[in-house]
Amino acid sequence: MQEHVYIGLGSNLDDPAGRLHRAIAAIAAIAGVELRAVSSFYASAPLGYDAQPDFVNAVVEVATSLAPRALLDQLQRIEQLQGRQRSFANAPRTLDLDIVLYGGLQQSDADLLLPHPRCHERAFVLLPLHEIAPDYVIPGRGPVAGLIAACGDQRIARLGD
Ligand code: ADP
Ligand code: MG
Repeated sequence: MQEHVYIGLGSNLDDPAGRLHRAIAAIAAIAGVELRAVSSFYASAPLGYDAQPDFVNAVVEVATSLAPRALLDQLQRIEQLQGRQRSFANAPRTLDLDIVLYGGLQQSDADLLLPHPRCHERAFVLLPLHEIAPDYVIPGRGPVAGLIAACGDQRIARLGD
């Protein structure tokens, strides 16, 4: 049984775009994970804590036989490999990998909330998600296209190829 999963990537330190490229290669190499689609990269203004560089963000679609927790373990291993340190909420980070959506699963485990609790209000998730899954409806939240309309105040730009 394979589930379609969307993973959000973000970085704002030490060559963010290069880090995203390496992270995508590492995700594709996880046993039990098939990479299906990769969005463009986007530059986005930091949310919550302003005194830090812009982020580079993307979303990838994978098909996986891994359970949600097993997939999160693998993503956190990749974060660690890229030198991720957890300092404070909204701090600058070398690499952040979040499970945005795991099929239609809705769960409220403290260490793995699905869908990601803030994905529906973040342009840096919604725009790349819309690119690779234009008709997606976020469980409990609604169609991606409609959610984007409410994020008009967030500064974001698609990066060239
Ligand atoms: P954030 O991504 O919210 O800025 P972190 O990456 O430091 O912060 O994540 C903190 C914790 O969030 C992780 O240890 C993880 O257990 C938890 N978490 C809850 N739901 C999710 C999710 N959908 N994807 C990734 N991490 C999640
Ligand atoms: Mg995270």
